[in-house]
Amino acid sequence: MFDLTGKIAVVTGGSRGIGRATSISLARAGAYVLVNYRSNEEAAAETVRLVEEAGGQGELLGFDVADPESVERAIKEAVGRHGGIDILVNNAGISIDQLLLRVSAKDLETTWATNVNGAVYCAKACIRPMMKKRWGRIINLSSVVAESGNPGQVVYSASKAALLGLTRTLAREYATRGITVNAVAPGFIETDMTAELPDAAKQGIVDQTPLGRIGRPEEVAAAVVFLASEEASYITGQVVRVNGGMHV
Ligand code: NAD
Repeated sequence: MFDLTGKIAVVTGGSRGIGRATSISLARAGAYVLVNYRSNEEAAAETVRLVEEAGGQGELLGFDVADPESVERAIKEAVGRHGGIDILVNNAGISIDQLLLRVSAKDLETTWATNVNGAVYCAKACIRPMMKKRWGRIINLSSVVAESGNPGQVVYSASKAALLGLTRTLAREYATRGITVNAVAPGFIETDMTAELPDAAKQGIVDQTPLGRIGRPEEVAAAVVFLASEEASYITGQVVRVNGGMHV
């Protein structure tokens, strides 16, 4: 078991799905988890309750990742309360699925604001405190479709590919400061984001997945916990693919 005792972690979009599972897994490993949410405070509070039920500790941290001022303010206050941020998990993400011909400027702006700009704002707010401690972990949630492509997900897959560029560049920029930056690229995971897909589409995905099933949020969280650990200290700029073999 990886030991994150004494580490302060921020998980963006921690109110449900992969963010919730990641919050619980990090806390179980000993980290104090700041569970970020944008609007659903009640669901995020339930994540904190589950963190405590798992024997961990954490608190709520409300901000919209797409709003640079509120990101700055919230992270600054959290650093003031806890003495730093050690682990940032850029998990908050949205998906507006359209074929190219139906993509609007608004779809692009909205997706980019959360998936790409949000990750940059959060990394920017956390990097100084990490540099000060000469230790840090940034983990960006990308997606299998960043590398494989997927018809109907032109905007989403482009935004998730942008996170890979961000990951690789930050890895190079901050390596000498003791900060590692990696991406986790999930395949098809059972969460609210994927719940709306028709059964036939889900079956199609299962058929393309060598492990023959959909993934669980906890299986993605396990990769995040490893990358956040001391044991992953020589891994930076990499993509860990948690996709059941869907894209190899
Ligand atoms: P989800 O929709 O269940 O959860 C996303 C979370 O992000 C929600 O809590 C939402 O409120 C939050 N969020 C959205 N915009 C935000 C904002 N502006 N500020 C703060 N929080 C915001 O999604 P999920 O399935 O748990 O996915 C989590 C991450 O993993 C996403 O980045 C997603 O793109 C990625 N991912 C998911 C899958 C999958 O199959 N579920 C596959 C590949 C990648």
